[in-house]
Amino acid sequence: MAERAYDFLMPSVNFFGPGVISKIGERAKMLGMKKPVIVTDKFLENLKNGAVAQTLASLKKSGVDYVVYNEVEPNPKIHNIKEVKTLYEKEDADSIITVGGGSAHDTGKGAGIIMTNGDDITKLAGIETLKNPLPPLIAVNTTAGTGSELTRHAVITNEETHLKFVVVSWRNIPLVSFNDPTLMLDIPKGLTAATGMDAFVQAVEPYVSVDHNPITDSQCIQAIKLIESSLREAVANGHNLQARTKMVEAEMLAGMAFNNANLGYVHAMAHQLGGQYDAPHGVCCALLLPYAEEYNLIADPERFAELARIMGENTDGLSTRDAAELSIKAMKQLSEDVGISHSIKDIGAKPEDFDLMAENALKDGNAFSNPRKGTKEDIVKIFQEAYDAK
Ligand code: NAD
Repeated sequence: MAERAYDFLMPSVNFFGPGVISKIGERAKMLGMKKPVIVTDKFLENLKNGAVAQTLASLKKSGVDYVVYNEVEPNPKIHNIKEVKTLYEKEDADSIITVGGGSAHDTGKGAGIIMTNGDDITKLAGIETLKNPLPPLIAVNTTAGTGSELTRHAVITNEETHLKFVVVSWRNIPLVSFNDPTLMLDIPKGLTAATGMDAFVQAVEPYVSVDHNPITDSQCIQAIKLIESSLREAVANGHNLQARTKMVEAEMLAGMAFNNANLGYVHAMAHQLGGQYDAPHGVCCALLLPYAEEYNLIADPERFAELARIMGENTDGLSTRDAAELSIKAMKQLSEDVGISHSIKDIGAKPEDFDLMAENALKDGNAFSNPRKGTKEDIVKIFQEAYDAK
């Protein structure tokens, strides 16, 4: 491992901590932004003293003009990114500020991609397909989940084919990210659980990925420990700033880790569920995680045994295989404790779709770093196990 060469990517400036949102106006001005499009949704726009209100107040204070696009949808669609582009051109905007969770950031990135790299984003799915830089982009994050405010990924759904695809490029990385945990206080329990489990999966998958390295390992380990010690509390008591702060630290660490060590079958398969049934991404990930990792376990039992220990399990006296199995048990327990249901049946999955979804999952950009190489039949079996789960 030590002799392998790798690069390490993240935004060059990352604001973190309670109250940092007040600095956004000043930073936008420093970047020369004169009229950004604020990419968000109506719910966040109308939240009293929420992330959008505080962003706009800070921009006004710094004398930066703006225009708001408030139609972001969960699992953002191609029409969303086209609408942002149209507004940007009509209003003579010069930059983008995304305010929200992964859906807002990916909508902003997607719009930036088609502004400078050609109108048909489906042709740009894949790795390092972008030739030209995006307009300047700042990401203000409001969920402790996806890490999209830091990553080179833009995940978009083609509403005609129901296929969710990923454009992965260093050019997608926001110039600046903001993570202010006060913006995440009182997020509803279900959303805290789903986004927190997404961050958890984004720490587990790069830890066992074929592309892991010592830097990403340390990020994954710390992210998993932080999530183990704070996600249950953040769900139980949404107003606990300490738990929210630890969850943001964890999601940033996981985001940096997977930005560089990549993901695996959980995400490749979750994209199929999200595209097909428009289901929340974090829930899709949580429901698939134990079954995909049970499948992966034989590829590196030592690493899975280590995962169990990182999650606080006592593996003294156990064989490596038994210790590794404990990590799967601990994953299921975390998901159950935060109230995620058990089966992909609950998000509308249908066995007759598994064949095509398995075929597409194996083509998803995230599949290539999975530690065990599977066939279509293997993936169908994992979907079926996640369906039969009780
Ligand atoms: P989201 O952005 O879809 O938001 C879900 C809902 O939460 C929205 O209705 C939103 O209004 C609400 N919300 C957001 N912040 C809130 C707050 N502070 N308080 C109350 N409500 C709030 O959710 P997400 O899980 O952050 O993003 C999921 C999307 O991100 C999926 O499309 C997924 O595929 C994608 N994703 C992207 C990456 C990446 O690196 N680009 C990584 C993982 C996932």
